[in-house]
Amino acid sequence: MTEKKMPIDAKLGLDVFKVDKQAHIVIDQKKCKKCRDDFCLYICPANLYSRAPNGDILVNFEGCLECGTCRIVCEHCGIDWKNPRGGFGVQLRFG
Ligand code: SF4
Repeated sequence: MTEKKMPIDAKLGLDVFKVDKQAHIVIDQKKCKKCRDDFCLYICPANLYSRAPNGDILVNFEGCLECGTCRIVCEHCGIDWKNPRGGFGVQLRFG
């Protein structure tokens, strides 16, 4: 008997977010302007990063899964990442 696999979008759709007004991810745009690799755009499992036409890096921190990968992958230390305040953040509902 084979186990039926759930698509990633369906798994992410089960998660619940209690969003704090205070961002737990803050971007240093001066460092991002110098970056040519943009690893953050490709590594986030929730696809929350984008680069605006003016060159700014944008992050929709409200949907963060709190994996911490973006903080580690930024080679310019341009991402100030803290855990959300108590009572806020993601509630993982599958796996
Ligand atoms: Fe994306 Fe993980 Fe960074 Fe959150 S911590 S923005 S889910 S890479």
